Amino acid sequence: MIVGIDLGTTNSLIGVFEKGSTTLIPNVFGQNLTPSVVGISDEGEVLIGAAATDRLVTNPQLTASAFKRSMGTSQTFRLGSQKFRPEELSALVIKSLVRDAEIYLGRRVTEAVISVPAYFNDTQRNATRAAAEIAGLKVERLINEPTAAALAYGLHDDKRENTFLVFDVGGGTFDVSVIELFEGVVEVRASAGDNYLGGEDFLDVLEAIWHEKTKVGELSSTLKAQLRQAAEQAKRCLNRDQVVSFGIQRNDSFIQCSISPSEYESRIAPLLMRLRRPVELALRDARIAVESLDEVVLVGGATRMTSIQRLVAKMFGKLPLRHIEPDEVVARGAAVQAGLKMRSEELDDIVLTDVCPYTLGIESSRELAPGDYAHGIMSPIIERNTLIPASRLQTYSPIHDNQRVLSIGVYQGEARQVSNNIKLGEFEVQLPRGNVAEETLVDVRFTYDENGILEVIATVRNTGDEKRLVITRNSGQMSKREIEAALKSLEKLKIHPRDQDENIAMLNRANRIYEQRLGYEREQIGKLIDQFELILEGQDPHEIREFRLELQHCLNALEFRE
Ligand code: ADP
Ligand code: MG
Repeated sequence: MIVGIDLGTTNSLIGVFEKGSTTLIPNVFGQNLTPSVVGISDEGEVLIGAAATDRLVTNPQLTASAFKRSMGTSQTFRLGSQKFRPEELSALVIKSLVRDAEIYLGRRVTEAVISVPAYFNDTQRNATRAAAEIAGLKVERLINEPTAAALAYGLHDDKRENTFLVFDVGGGTFDVSVIELFEGVVEVRASAGDNYLGGEDFLDVLEAIWHEKTKVGELSSTLKAQLRQAAEQAKRCLNRDQVVSFGIQRNDSFIQCSISPSEYESRIAPLLMRLRRPVELALRDARIAVESLDEVVLVGGATRMTSIQRLVAKMFGKLPLRHIEPDEVVARGAAVQAGLKMRSEELDDIVLTDVCPYTLGIESSRELAPGDYAHGIMSPIIERNTLIPASRLQTYSPIHDNQRVLSIGVYQGEARQVSNNIKLGEFEVQLPRGNVAEETLVDVRFTYDENGILEVIATVRNTGDEKRLVITRNSGQMSKREIEAALKSLEKLKIHPRDQDENIAMLNRANRIYEQRLGYEREQIGKLIDQFELILEGQDPHEIREFRLELQHCLNALEFRE
């Protein structure tokens, strides 16, 4: 069984393609969105998703989130006495999704299509692959998130030609893609974006406003996290065009501030401005005028913000499409792709093409004046947003007569100086003895496929000598052996029993609120916690469920009475 997975910065989802449509699989909490959060419980067990989110507040040193931002780097996350790579934390999230899917489907899940931001480079893509392998899955394909979005929407479309723009604002990333759909072919014409712009940045603004208005300075980490949760609630309420109050309980006072939608709008104006540039870039790269777009598709939870929806409508002069839940679009698209892979009959006629999201080239020297060279200049061979699979050839000559070797440094990136780009590899070709520089021609061919494998072949025309380099991963990435070791070590981790997750999450939530409140309220919550723990020990599922619902009711009344 192949599943589709959206491995998000904030939330992750898993889905399948069945009987002609996509189904998203709910987790043990009955929710399609599993927070991409991993924590270690006080007993040293691993908690994943909603069971861990509340501990971001109470136990920040034992909880990790937003690790997708660090994929493909050597950064590690320390949770208590253990260290985790971002690949391993992602693997734990994937494992949890897969387990939910296996229970729901009643069969083994062994393969997956996983979505990645269009802007992810090779290293980040390979890290995502490694995460899936650590979780014990074979990756059938990585799919760009906006491509997945187009697939999810493409299915709803009739057969006429269509040009879309996908506008995806998630928790931490912003992606824009221009996509063409015709005769069942989905083609990404261009993508652009900002890896550091998302819903979280809007929260930062709300927090800053709170500090200004309440004149409260630095907060302890627990209070900081509490403020962040309150701001998240406020952010959602601001969509309803009402004045919103939010704050935190410190000692015996509730410190809050009010903000009106118009004030909020003016404060987030700089963030909204930053959403414009990538749109312009993508349209320019795709050579498409705003007026020629048939549709604009909203993706990502943050596009539920009315300010963003208004901005998009103004920018494009039309109302965007959003009839699929924006935070579910990518997962549904990945599920469609998984269906394609399983050769579902209904989908036989959809072909997927893609683009290379960054420029690939080699290091070269440029002659500024006779004998005066600028070195280390990027010579692009496959340009950003070229349709893949792609194969391109460029011809180079050595600088000096009788130069014996030509070294070929392969880079990825947009900067003119290779030192500002990412080095993917290097190799040398031998040149014939006694050669004349101008007459010595070396053909360099780049072939790049949809799995991110780059083949570089250099041929010396005068001699026919050929050298080949295949780049699948670069340094800083996990080797096969490291992946296997990580797989083994994760197997040794004690993952908390699945059927207990709802109880754990409820206990964590109660404990968090206990820490936040004081006096009578605290006492009441304390009693409820004691009682719940007692009932849990009794192990009667019916009684546990009953009490959990009651507890939930009490906590909701406490938390949401404002
Ligand atoms: P990712 O792709 O990064 O995992 P999602 O697409 O799930 O993220 O979007 C998460 C973001 O969406 C969060 O920043 C969250 O605050 C925001 N979000 C979700 N619902 C709303 C809403 N109703 N109003 C404003 N923001 C929202
Ligand atoms: Mg997303």
